[in-house]
Amino acid sequence: MSEQLTKYAFIDRDGTLIHEPTLKETKPGDVPYQIDSLGKLKILPGVINGLQKLVAAGYRLVMISNQDGLGAEIFPRPSFDSPQNKLLEICEDSGIIFEMILICTHLPVDDCNCRKPKTGLVDNLPMMENIDRVNSVVIGNSHTDKKFAEKLGLKFVEIKTNTTFKVIL
Ligand SMILES: [Zn+2]
Repeated sequence: MSEQLTKYAFIDRDGTLIHEPTLKETKPGDVPYQIDSLGKLKILPGVINGLQKLVAAGYRLVMISNQDGLGAEIFPRPSFDSPQNKLLEICEDSGIIFEMILICTHLPVDDCNCRKPKTGLVDNLPMMENIDRVNSVVIGNSHTDKKFAEKLGLKFVEIKTNTTFKVIL
């Protein structure tokens, strides 16, 4: 008896789905790259349509993101939640549901096993046993995402940072 395999799309958030503030855009007192207020939420062009296409093509969606120091003083949880919840709400209104949201909250110096490109966030998930490894994808804008895909043996789809979200499968 063969098990039904499931296609997953592991999708990075910052710079891929939403605009990641550049160093130039960082104001004094702000933490570079951190999306920590509703005002910093800018969904990139093509995101809603692109995600809808993935869903229509049978992909289950997993958001996977490194959020340095989330929950610590430099990045209080409510500052993260407000733009994140809004993003999820907008997605949901368009029929897009993320089955899982996986976040590494560590700093590079913590040397955890879950910060991309490390695979600790997914290694022990039960769903990994039934994943369609041929058709599943990692979608992201950084070299880190690419390496993450390589480690999992999955196809990588690159989105150029802060540009149009476009996935050709
Ligand atoms: Zn971690």
